[in-house]
This record gives sequence, C-alpha cells and structure tokens, in this order.
Amino acid sequence: MKIHEFQAKDLFRNAGIPVPKGNVAATPEEAVEIAKTLDGPPWVVKAQIHAGGRGKGGGVKVVKSIEEVKKAAEDILSKPLVTHQTGPAGQKVRNLLIEEGLDIEREFYLGIVIDRKLESPVMIFSQAGGMEIEEVSAKNPELVLFENIDITSGFMPYQARSFFYGIEPMLDKNVFRELSATMSKLYSLFMSNDCSLVEINPLVVTSSGKVVALDAKINFDDNALFRQKDIAKLHDSHEMDELEAEASKYSLNYIRLDGNIGAMVNGAGLAMATMDVIKLAGAEPANFLDVGGGATEEMVKNGLKIILTDKRVKAVLINIFGGIMRCDVLARGVVNAAKEVDIEVPLIVRLEGTNVEEGREILKNSDLDFSVAGDIEEAGGMVAKQVI
Ligand code: ADP
Ligand code: MG
Repeated sequence: MKIHEFQAKDLFRNAGIPVPKGNVAATPEEAVEIAKTLDGPPWVVKAQIHAGGRGKGGGVKVVKSIEEVKKAAEDILSKPLVTHQTGPAGQKVRNLLIEEGLDIEREFYLGIVIDRKLESPVMIFSQAGGMEIEEVSAKNPELVLFENIDITSGFMPYQARSFFYGIEPMLDKNVFRELSATMSKLYSLFMSNDCSLVEINPLVVTSSGKVVALDAKINFDDNALFRQKDIAKLHDSHEMDELEAEASKYSLNYIRLDGNIGAMVNGAGLAMATMDVIKLAGAEPANFLDVGGGATEEMVKNGLKIILTDKRVKAVLINIFGGIMRCDVLARGVVNAAKEVDIEVPLIVRLEGTNVEEGREILKNSDLDFSVAGDIEEAGGMVAKQVI
C-alpha cells in the first residue's frame, strides 16, 4: 500500500525525523491560508499523488509571493498531473502540500528496501540526491552506497560511518550526527510499521546546517496491514485506477496496461503467455486479467464488462484453458455480459479443456458475434490483425 507525501511526513514527524513545516490544502484559498501561517518566501506548492517525478512534471512549484501560491495551486489542481510514473493520462490532483521553502545546501538520497536475496532490509545512501536514483545507479553506480541491516542488531553506528566515509566532501560533525540519527530513526520507522520501502529524496542539509527530509515516500507490506490498523486507514482509494478498483470488488486480478487488446484469461501463467503472444503478433495488451481458477459465471461477466468499459480496447481475446474453471461456465459468463453491454469490438475466443464442447455449444447458440481460434498462437495473430 502506498500513502501520500503529507501522510508520510506526518509519520516522519512523529518518529522525530525533521520535515519542513507545512499543511494540506484542497483548494487555492486553503493553500493561501496555509502559506500565510508559514515562514516565507519562498513557499512550495506540491501535488499529492502516489507517483514520483512530480518536480519534473510541473507538480512541485517553488514560489515567492502569496499571489503565486494561489496561482500555482490553481494551476496544479486544474489538470491531471503527468509524470514518468503516472502513464500518459496522468493522475488527478486532489490535494496540495503547502510548505515553507528551504535553502538547500546539499542533497542526499536515503532509502530502505528489502533485499530478497539476503532476506534483510538494506539501507541505500547517495550523495547524488534530488535526482532519480535509478538513473544515478545506471550511470554512476559508485555513487550509490548500500548497507545490509541485520535485524537482530538493527542499524549500527558503524554503518552510518561507512556511508559517510564513502562520500565527498566530508561532512561537518553536526551534520554527521544529525544524518546518523535520521538513519536510525528511519530504520525504526521502517521496521515498526511493516514498510516495504521508505525513501527520502532529497534529504537535504540547509544553509544553516539542519538535516531535513524534503520529500517522503513510504510503501507498506499489504500482508501486514491486518496488524497496522492506523496505517491501513491512510489508504486513499482515489489513487487506484478506476477499473482496477472495480475489478478488485469482484476478486478479479486485473491490471490496466497501455495497449488496445483486451484479454481475459484464467491463470496468471496463461495470462502472461497470452500477453506475450499478443506482443509477438505485433500488438499490445490493454490489460492483464486473470479470472482465476475458481471463477464463477458472475466473475467472468464482470471481467468482460470491465474490459469493454475501457474505451481504448479495440479487440478482445478470450483465452481459457478449462481445468478447475469449466469452459461452459466461461461461455455462460460471456453470454450474460453480452446481454448487459454491447460488444462493439471483434471478439476472438480460444477454448480448450474441461467441458469445452458444452462451452462452444453455448457460444454458438447465442447471438454473439465472435471468431474461434484453434490454438494460442493463432489467437494472438487473429486478435492482433484487428488493430494493426
Ligand atoms: P518529486 O520527487 O516527486 O519530484 P520532491 O518532493 O522531491 O518531488 O520535490 C522536487 C524538488 O523540489 C526537490 O528536489 C527540491 O529541489 C524541491 N523542493 C521540494 N520541497 C521543497 C521545499 N520545502 N523547499 C525547497 N525546495 C523544495
Ligand atoms: Mg523526490
């Protein structure tokens, strides 16, 4: 589960990690009221969405007057924010974080993730803060430092020192102390909240020598939310893709993608293979949809309806291997969906396995217009032909 920057900063504040003074606004008027209570100029107006790269996308504005706070707030709230993490459609901005602007002297990157191979948390520190860490790691890997943390001893002071010996120029003694303390506190926060990722980019040293987390990102382990009730309450359902939220109501494993071939498949492996086949044939899948082994008629119906609601979908491929899930159940679900929504795009069906004859019969006897593919490869070719 992800949370917003302002929520992450509240958790930081409670954990003793310094963050800029600020508050959340939903309107330009609120933004102005908040700015008036903060030291400035400058003030910073920041879009609150669950995606990074807001700065580059125009979602973070440093301004020098109260009028500009209002203008920046109006501007950011007026349209979806597009960053390299949102996809081309962007994400609607509902809230803004209004903060005091700090005078930045040095920017660091500090993060913690789980290293699956070592089965332990790993802290990541870099002197190349404020930039995308993936890019730094690709171009200047020597600038990205790692310390694996043994969970029985926790984050050790020597690990902070070994980070600091790895950067240039050397740190002032007070900055060194503050950074070490921030690292320890971040590790405690990570462990006690069952985080899967925490990231401060940038973690800055101000001109007066204070260490402050200017940005804050936290992801939580969904499997631990049952024991993190306060964290679970922070969930913002607006941030989920609408169709994905709809699909989760019916326990469908649906992920929206960028292409235009809708695909309904049973089993994650077959769904992945089907996406490969679509790509091999030169087209792009619009979604991943695994209706699951025990899918009911109702789930199939809702799955197909969700695929068809996506207006980018220009053709649909249904690829079912009947095992636990029977082909006749699938067929009835498809026919029922067709009664509730108009299927205006070509439908290609490939069925095999348990009760395949009954399934084919049900589809044939309906007034559904569809084509039958003999095997998965042919299915990919047939569906791709509709769009290329
Ligand atoms: P994102 O990572 O989504 O681009 P950040 O919160 O990192 O968003 O903000 C982008 C940049 O904006 C930062 O790298 C920093 O240079 C500047 N910035 C953000 N908050 C402040 C602030 N309170 N004071 C001064 N500059 C800021
Ligand atoms: Mg950032």
